[in-house]
Amino acid sequence: MIWSARQQQMLRAMGLRPWSRAAPVPQAGEPEKVAAPSTESTSAPASDRAVGPARTRAAPPHVAGASAAALASPAASPVAAADEPAAAALAERRQAIARLDWPALREAVAACSACTLHGTRTQPVFGVGHTEAHWMVVGEAPGEQEDLQGEPFVGAAGQLLDQMLAALSLTRAAEGPQPPAQRVFIANTLKCRPPRNRNPQPDELLACEPFLQRQIALVQPRIILAMGRFAIQSLLQSNEPVGKLRGRVHRYQGVPLVVTYHPAYLLRSPAEKARAWDDLCLAAQVVEGELSPSSPSPDASRSAR
Ligand code: SF4
Repeated sequence: MIWSARQQQMLRAMGLRPWSRAAPVPQAGEPEKVAAPSTESTSAPASDRAVGPARTRAAPPHVAGASAAALASPAASPVAAADEPAAAALAERRQAIARLDWPALREAVAACSACTLHGTRTQPVFGVGHTEAHWMVVGEAPGEQEDLQGEPFVGAAGQLLDQMLAALSLTRAAEGPQPPAQRVFIANTLKCRPPRNRNPQPDELLACEPFLQRQIALVQPRIILAMGRFAIQSLLQSNEPVGKLRGRVHRYQGVPLVVTYHPAYLLRSPAEKARAWDDLCLAAQVVEGELSPSSPSPDASRSAR
């Protein structure tokens, strides 16, 4: 990658080094880890709370099967799934969401009451970006400003994320001249803000998961960047610390996935910015076909801690 003077200036401002394609690419792979939640605090604070597949896009159908009421129904919530009928309703809801197109999915999230967060949110935070973006960033849950503005990653953490993406010539903007290869779609694991920015609960993550799954299926990204503990736990079903999961390429729904620190954590721990930058560079290598999804990054051995 040729770094423009503006990009180099941006990296210097963040205390990061430019990514060089000449960096050594390791040949050895590591098995993908799938396990269950850790206590490492690498997430947004409570106060704010195999190479990219070239796939053919099929025109998605509109709502099919279950009604919109069924999609939003608390009866289909995992909380209520202890008995057989509730479990069947939950499965039906998952299948119905998996058939939604973009407008229907947006409507379903707006109307959702499948977990208790619908009662305390200002508005759901659906996500932002180009619907055919090659990059997808998955965060945790909306914080106060996200809840008010209806957009993920706003405020100081969002600005830091935008700076790091811009250093790779990536943008969250849905409109503009950039091709999909330079676009990022950003979504959260939970679409609604937990009260007082408490940690997401397992039943809430489970209830909201089908929406993120459908977003990923519709975007068909070449790479997913999972940011923060709860996003990582939800996507990888792993409770290993972020530091142990980063530095190699995982998969989610067949899409290469790279784990990294949440920008809010980076604001509290600026010394970790260099590792987060390494993670973005690893993701860039995967997107550009320079690295097998099973390979660890060049810094994996020193950074897995
Ligand atoms: S967090 Fe997700 S599952 Fe819960 S009400 Fe909001 S959209 Fe529905």
